Amino acid sequence: MGNPTKLEPNKQLDWKWQSRKSLRSLSDFEQYFDLSVDEKKAFAYNQDLFQVRATPYYASLAHKTDINCPIRQILVPQFKEVEAYKTQSLKDPLAERQNNPVPRIIHRYKDRVLLLVTDFCSVYCRYCTRKHFTATGQAVISKKDFHLALDYIYKHSEIKEVILSGGDPLTLSDEKLDELLYAIKGIPHVELIRIGTRVPTVMPMRVTEKLVKILRKHKPVFLMSHFNHRKEITDLSSQALELFVDHGIPVMNQMVLLKNINDSADAVYELSRALLRLRVKPYYMFQCDPVVGTEHLKVSLEKSKSIQRELWGHSSGLAMPNLSLDIPDGGGKVGIVPDFYQGSEAGTHFFVGFDGVKGVYKDPVE
Ligand SMILES: *Cc1c(COP(=O)(O)O)cnc(C)c1O
Ligand code: SF4
Repeated sequence: MGNPTKLEPNKQLDWKWQSRKSLRSLSDFEQYFDLSVDEKKAFAYNQDLFQVRATPYYASLAHKTDINCPIRQILVPQFKEVEAYKTQSLKDPLAERQNNPVPRIIHRYKDRVLLLVTDFCSVYCRYCTRKHFTATGQAVISKKDFHLALDYIYKHSEIKEVILSGGDPLTLSDEKLDELLYAIKGIPHVELIRIGTRVPTVMPMRVTEKLVKILRKHKPVFLMSHFNHRKEITDLSSQALELFVDHGIPVMNQMVLLKNINDSADAVYELSRALLRLRVKPYYMFQCDPVVGTEHLKVSLEKSKSIQRELWGHSSGLAMPNLSLDIPDGGGKVGIVPDFYQGSEAGTHFFVGFDGVKGVYKDPVE
């Protein structure tokens, strides 16, 4: 520790410092954690499978000794990642590479596309669903690929939304983001841009007034945040989220249900309430995709449905994220809702509600 009375810029609050000082190797992680034998073993194999990386900020939120800490399980690899599995273990579970008409564009749904602007993230989440692309050294989109992507969007007038994804788009510089957003918004049929990011969670100091003003300039821009656990919401991440909302950028949160991390109705409820207080709408609660190295983090669908059912009647509609599963091999998203329908007879439909109250709904007489 330096002399606390000396006025020095706080390096920890500089996102470029966070990025530069990121933990990448076993010895980096050993400075933050008492690693278990199993975790240490994972480092030896892991760099081939899926890179390891974390900001000092995010690593400092995780527990030094407790291997069950939710944040620790998200950022520290386990040896289970490298073992072979008997069930599903796919590199590209959503078959994105089959819906990849030009480099960096994923076009699966008619009116919206993903644009993968970089493969880099400041933290590599162990459960990442895009291991076929994320952290594969492809870097920021080249001028040539960006022009091909713009041309594709331009020629498909059905595209109303462009979703910047990756990797993490907010690891790009302000200037680069401004340039990309300006070009995309220049296409007349593009109505809005979404940005999918973990930056408010893992590197909140990246969110500056300058950044949010750039996003505001290209409105409407929606920010899709990605918090999985209440512990990820700190003073700094709260400030980051509020900065977006204060500048007219709606924030929606997407989470993934993960075993022993957030797989209980209480964990989801606590996170949702904390987000709502910051004016962030819980949007999706994803079933973990069968991506390679993630088997030990998967929750059974039955369990996810029971979490949703427990939340359904007891949490406000605003706090309720939509449970969604991506059908492996490119089937698309399916929304999953509790089934309260008991069947019908001659235009009369029978229901039993979330707390057991029965009722009928009658169709109009023809
Ligand atoms: C999830 C996803 C979207 C966005 O879907 P919404 O339901 O509109 O949030 C768009 N494209 C792809 C390929 C996706 O996987
Ligand atoms: S931030 Fe997103 S793309 Fe990056 S590792 Fe995490 S889940 Fe994957």
